Amino acid sequence: MIACLDRFVPDTESETATDDLPKLPTGDLTLAGRDFGGIRRTTPKAVVRPSSSADVAAILRHASHSPSLTVAARGNGHSINGQAMAEGGVVLDMSSLSDHRPMEFSDGFVEVSGGTLWEDVLVRCVAEQGKAPRSWTDYLGLTVGGTLSNAGVSGQTFRYGPQTNNVSELEIVTVSGDTVLCSETQNADLFFASLGGLGQFGVITRARIPLQPAPDMVRWIRVVYSEFEVYAKDAEFLVTRGDDDSFDYVEGFAFVNGSDPVNGWPSVPIGPGQVFDPDRIPTGSGPVLYCLEVALHYVNDEATASVHERVQEKLKQLKYCKGLEFTTDVKYEEFLTRVKKAEKEAKESGIWDAPHPWLNLFVSKADIVDFDLNVFKKILKDGIGGPMLVYPLIKSMWDSRASVVLPEGEIFYLVALLRFNRPFPDGPPVEDLIAQNKEIIDCCETNGYDFKMYFPSYDSEEKWKRHFGDQWSRFVERKARYDPTAVLAPGQGIFTRTH
Ligand code: FAD
Repeated sequence: MIACLDRFVPDTESETATDDLPKLPTGDLTLAGRDFGGIRRTTPKAVVRPSSSADVAAILRHASHSPSLTVAARGNGHSINGQAMAEGGVVLDMSSLSDHRPMEFSDGFVEVSGGTLWEDVLVRCVAEQGKAPRSWTDYLGLTVGGTLSNAGVSGQTFRYGPQTNNVSELEIVTVSGDTVLCSETQNADLFFASLGGLGQFGVITRARIPLQPAPDMVRWIRVVYSEFEVYAKDAEFLVTRGDDDSFDYVEGFAFVNGSDPVNGWPSVPIGPGQVFDPDRIPTGSGPVLYCLEVALHYVNDEATASVHERVQEKLKQLKYCKGLEFTTDVKYEEFLTRVKKAEKEAKESGIWDAPHPWLNLFVSKADIVDFDLNVFKKILKDGIGGPMLVYPLIKSMWDSRASVVLPEGEIFYLVALLRFNRPFPDGPPVEDLIAQNKEIIDCCETNGYDFKMYFPSYDSEEKWKRHFGDQWSRFVERKARYDPTAVLAPGQGIFTRTH
């Protein structure tokens, strides 16, 4: 995945212009009315830069006593559909919290503010402790509070669960202005409600995250498949193995069987000078091919022969197209920040500021072969101008007490359509891309696929009800308990502010 808005720091700090709000430093209204998706625009009443939980509490208390004011915590604004916005409300720029609350290390944990970027967590943990969190996202220009409000998934999720499963304690400020410490054993309902809770139940001001020893290096490997079923079988094999029998990271993506530089063969090689040889593709292959992406951690002391042996031991069990394998060795931090390079290129080529109508789904294993047939091989056979991730995850690694909802069955797939198109008229009109997303959703519904939207965005209660399914009543009860007048996260469009 790619991209990030510049850090949300105003040129000059001034106090809230709105007389009736608590007097606190303010931020940039225009920036807070936009997000990475670039599709929605709103005008908040104020942007506040809190420096403590007490500041957050003061704003929430004020809003909950007002007749109609709403409040949205904004992480790094990397949402697609205005989820961190508040039309006519107050936006809390969470980045200011991390400026004022330093990271702290104790007993194998790091304590970070909700507005901290994961890339900062990585740098400090490795440099100061030689350790790192277990579960990541592909791109680290995201905030701790932002990903914990959704799930946070990447190639480590099969082993450790999403980021929401890799946090031991949260400090949450509720709309009543209380600052609540919560964990699996203390205020557990608020803890689990907030994990994957779409910002609905409180503002995450602090998180305690377990660390493990960080490796020095990563062997990063890509192998290519022409048949989806073979790809899926191998990917599922790897994500269901024990620690020593699998890689440390397992992901994968679909790509176009053609020479298109963005969507096709050239999108696969990873190392310097590597070239994709199309003669290695079996004759009769379809319009779309699949790339399994894996990585193995090692330390500098491990002999090269031993790393090679460990990799070969695992690779030999896979049925990819021989001759279409790509390997490179990179430092651990470089691997985890690999998307930053793509971000830089995207900024240079001008696709950074274009709209990003992304679509993220969790699709049940039971339907993924049919999904491939109807979506990748038909609707998306020419690509999307960016990565089309598709890889399996394991449901039992996700805590069902958290608010996130998943399809049925032990194995489901993340499908992430990460469009990076040039702005119209050099690229397609954004309406066409949104229409294509709708066509995909319609296809899933018509065929009765078991799927859930990741980073859901719906325009009616009916659709939200359907999204949550049998978890809807739990979600509504939690909302009634923690934010009965719907002050928080109005940009999600789930609940309407009442008196
Ligand atoms: P925002 O977009 O600012 O906020 C998201 C939601 O969380 C909003 O409702 C907001 O109100 C709420 N919120 C934010 N902070 C808090 C807080 N402290 N307390 C309570 N609520 C809060 N996701 C993955 O899982 N895996 C990936 O690999 C991945 N890669 C990405 C790559 C790119 C380039 C982009 C743009 C996104 C990617 N995402 C990925 C999606 C990302 O997880 C979401 O955008 C997520 O919302 C985090 O972004 P953010 O920190 O900017 O949060």
